[in-house]
Amino acid sequence: MNTATGFDWLHGRGGYAYGKALKEDARRYYGCRQGFGAQGTMVPNDDTFCELDPKMKDQWGIPVLRFHWKWSDFELRQVLHQQKLIAELLSAMGGKFSGPPETADALKVIRAGGAVIHEVGGAIMGERRPNSVTNRWGQTWDVKNLFMADGAPFASTADKNPTLTIMALAWRAVDHLIEERQKGNL
Ligand SMILES: Cc1cc2nc3c(=O)[nH]c(=O)nc-3n(C[C@H](O)[C@H](O)[C@H](O)COP(=O)(O)OP(=O)(O)OC[C@H]3O[C@@H](n4cnc5c(N)ncnc54)[C@H](O)[C@@H]3O)c2cc1C
Repeated sequence: MNTATGFDWLHGRGGYAYGKALKEDARRYYGCRQGFGAQGTMVPNDDTFCELDPKMKDQWGIPVLRFHWKWSDFELRQVLHQQKLIAELLSAMGGKFSGPPETADALKVIRAGGAVIHEVGGAIMGERRPNSVTNRWGQTWDVKNLFMADGAPFASTADKNPTLTIMALAWRAVDHLIEERQKGNL
């Protein structure tokens, strides 16, 4: 999840300037604009999941994934908290905040699901089924010798970028796989 805000020199005079005033504002405020982007964490919820589309297929006749998405209170409150903090930071810096107010509708401030390119957890890991697709090693419950070593088994979307965690989980999964293989379990 992600939200962005900032203040804008075009609002320096309390509204959009035009003509000569615009040029004066551009000179006066140039280099003084500050924007903030905030990344947050998303926890799993029952309304956010993917499944095989019952109708649509790709060019090879394989069913495509269908995504369902709903922000929960957890993410929406987080976004409002981010807005509030960013406004406080900008004010402390002597800036004027031109982003949405703290009381804004969080659904209008938060970016649409899928827009942040860090979405993970399509085949979530967990302690047991039916709430998860894989165990803690990324090994699927349904197929014993199938391990997911990508972003799919993430148990949540952290506020951090995913790639290093994907690598760490893949490493951990392979260590486990080797051990299980040596024991003759796979
Ligand atoms: C522009 C951009 C910038 C990013 N920057 C960062 C960054 O700076 N730091 C960071 O940590 N993360 C970053 N990310 C996120 C990171 O790249 C992803 O989280 C990560 O690549 C996900 O890995 P994955 O293996 O789960 O999925 P992917 O890397 O998406 O791999 C999925 C693979 O499955 C293949 N595939 C899909 N459908 C099928 C099918 N039906 N049959 C066969 N193959 C299929 C795809 O072709 C693809 O190769 C960025 C993402 C984007 C898009």
